[in-house]
Amino acid sequence: IFKDYVNGFPKESDMPFNSSATVHLKLPDDSNAVLLKNLYLSCDPYMRARMNKTEGSYFEPFTPGSTILGLGVSKVVDSGNSNFKKGDLVWGGTGWEEYSIINAPQFLFKIQDTDVPLSYYTGILGMPGMTAYYGFYEICAPKKGEYVFVSAASGAVGQLVGQFAKLTGCYVVGSAGTKEKVDLLKNKFGFDEAFNYKEEQDLDAALKKYFPEGIDIYFENVGGKMLEAVLLNMRENGRISVCGLISQYNLVEEEGVKNFFCVITKRLLLKGFIIIDHFNLYPKYLEMVMPLIKEGKICYIEDIVEGLENAPSALIGLFSGKNVGKQVVVVARE
Ligand code: NDP
Repeated sequence: IFKDYVNGFPKESDMPFNSSATVHLKLPDDSNAVLLKNLYLSCDPYMRARMNKTEGSYFEPFTPGSTILGLGVSKVVDSGNSNFKKGDLVWGGTGWEEYSIINAPQFLFKIQDTDVPLSYYTGILGMPGMTAYYGFYEICAPKKGEYVFVSAASGAVGQLVGQFAKLTGCYVVGSAGTKEKVDLLKNKFGFDEAFNYKEEQDLDAALKKYFPEGIDIYFENVGGKMLEAVLLNMRENGRISVCGLISQYNLVEEEGVKNFFCVITKRLLLKGFIIIDHFNLYPKYLEMVMPLIKEGKICYIEDIVEGLENAPSALIGLFSGKNVGKQVVVVARE
């Protein structure tokens, strides 16, 4: 349950667990809804924005006292909607609960291919995968040989951006917050170089070391000091895909960005996006990524915790870098 609006870092006590709810596993005969059994839930940084009272954001705030909403993989248990039938596997908008009634299933996709881990539909085959695909290919228009930098590079989105960049023939460097993550970037995902940004006193100097000729493409996941250092190191006509600013999400007031004049002098393109606007490209993305997964040309790391009661701590962990790869919560396996 979402207890109340949050100031600063969320705590587990902001998301108390209610074990007393009852479930009717049959919808009323006149219902148009879909009844879901939730299997895997996705922990995503944007959920923090829904804990603010702020009106006018691209997502409605959560309602205090109500179930937390998010994305997940579920099984249809009953359906009054002609697009879904009992037994279908779906991914999309659901609740942080064992069973959910979805009255308006606009953001629910039927899962066609079950030849891959089902949890992948919270990650590489779901919203984060689409985010990496759109933000990298559509916004950055990468070319072979270009210099690419990715922040929060080992996460749900970043690990894919790096691998897409390698498949395009780019030189790729990633930053992450632990040695374990840096090792993953270099040894598992095939980044050319990686560094722990928490150990660098001078981010500008670190970027100069890894990009002596500058950066063509920056895939922005974090904002703050990293963005300031990146702006100094961009090449002329570079592109910045502004995907996320996680370093700012728990601040009461967003910090300003220094070095912004570089956008003019270096003729940079900065483009922000909200991935839900671009799901018309989802079939095209699946067509590209599914063979890459099945042929082993791309890999995907998940951080899986068991049990709905552990979802709050898993979500909070995103903001201190506790997760290694895509953070998934298992509610039930079938
Ligand atoms: P991740 O799986 O990457 O998890 C978040 C990671 O961010 C943490 O593991 C941590 O890694 C890093 N992090 C946390 N706090 C900070 C901080 N203060 N400074 C720097 N890094 C920090 O999340 P996702 O891949 O799901 O999301 C990545 C970004 O993409 C987020 O900003 C998210 O909001 C954005 N996003 C945007 C979408 C859109 O439509 N525009 C859609 C989906 C995601 P580390 O250990 O490396 O610090």
